[in-house]
Amino acid sequence: MTLLSIVVPCYNEQETVSLFYDATSKVVDKMDMDYEIIFVNDGSKDKTLEECVKLYKSHPDHVRVIDFSRNFGKEGGLLAGLEYAKGDYITVMDADLQDPPEYLPLMMESINNENYDIVGTRRVSRKGEPPIRSFFARQFYKLINKFTEVEIVDGARDYRLMTRQVVDSILELKEYHRFSKGLFVWVGYKTKYLEYENVERVAGETSWNFWGLAKYAIEGIVAFTTAPLQIATIFGLLISFVAFIAMIFIIVRALIFGDPVAGWPSMMTIMLFLGGIQLLAIGIIGEYLSKTYMEVKKRPNYIVKKIYE
Ligand code: UDP
Ligand code: MG
Repeated sequence: MTLLSIVVPCYNEQETVSLFYDATSKVVDKMDMDYEIIFVNDGSKDKTLEECVKLYKSHPDHVRVIDFSRNFGKEGGLLAGLEYAKGDYITVMDADLQDPPEYLPLMMESINNENYDIVGTRRVSRKGEPPIRSFFARQFYKLINKFTEVEIVDGARDYRLMTRQVVDSILELKEYHRFSKGLFVWVGYKTKYLEYENVERVAGETSWNFWGLAKYAIEGIVAFTTAPLQIATIFGLLISFVAFIAMIFIIVRALIFGDPVAGWPSMMTIMLFLGGIQLLAIGIIGEYLSKTYMEVKKRPNYIVKKIYE
């Protein structure tokens, strides 16, 4: 029988994991395939592990639990789950039921009947989200799509159903800084998106705050494009050009009209402006350098303490 693997990264989800199991198993039970739900406990500080193990004990043939030694972030959880998954089809879902399991049969149908390799989901609304957060999110998608070769659909969620082949391709990408949203697209394959209205989490709280998201956005850009590095070059060229014209102008003017002392404020502004741009450029280089540094160290993305299988 075909096997469906459901990868669920969990961080402080004690209230949601059993709700998730009930809702999801109800849908998958009807799908005429075998399934494994892989809960990855990402170093939760609450009773998530206990809840997952409880589920594992009552449904040993459907539940697996991977317990991390500490919190490694959602990307680590996703990777561990994908590496562990044995299914012919693999899906990744949030534990909070923001990814409606009712879509799984639809996704499976598209893969089987319409020859898609990936069926993803995207939110067409962001209701229940603070407006500035939505605004910055939109800008982020515009920016990353302009500068990178991957076309990340606005509002696309990680929730998607993939064939074994797609997941194997994703696992070939061995980079340490994993920006899954981009990796899922980068591997290519025929992809379809199902659209739905935003659903709020059933319980618990989101682990994202504004700065967390801002950092995530920078990660994404640095992981998928080196365009910011060129900004420094372009700025440098432009400013040198303007400075050169200004120099000729000043020399000619001094030769014709003499050189009355003036212009201290304008000189300060220009110096501060240039200083700012230099710092920005160094910061951009630093951003890439630090990523290279971490990449070179080849540390694992996660450490497993125990697997319940
Ligand atoms: N998550 C995780 N490790 C973390 C943060 C989050 O495994 O360090 C999981 C979390 O339990 C949830 C999913 O990633 O299943 C998405 O997180 P959340 O719902 O907080 O994000 P949002 O849906 O608000 O984007
Ligand atoms: Mg969520």
